[in-house]
Amino acid sequence: MITTIKVSKYGYNMDIQTECQTFGELEGKLKTIRESGFEPQKQSSFVKKPVELTGDKCPTCGKDVVWVIKKDGTKAKRCIDNKWDSVANRPTGCPYYLKI
Ligand SMILES: [Zn+2]
Repeated sequence: MITTIKVSKYGYNMDIQTECQTFGELEGKLKTIRESGFEPQKQSSFVKKPVELTGDKCPTCGKDVVWVIKKDGTKAKRCIDNKWDSVANRPTGCPYYLKI
């Protein structure tokens, strides 16, 4: 996957595009970037994939159901309204979630 890493040095921001197959590889690259005096910015993230609709409608609220692919490669279905509240550290919105 192509990852964009935002870095800053002397107050200048730059985007570095790199191809990493694993998180370990990405960590190694981040380490190299730090060692050359650049500061990777925290909001750098993997290029967000567009949501993939399953074509199903949520049995709970009737909204679209999307595929979720977890780090271990397993798939699950989740209501598009099912979100993660990172402040409260719990899911919010529609509770529909189905493991395949
Ligand atoms: Zn729902």
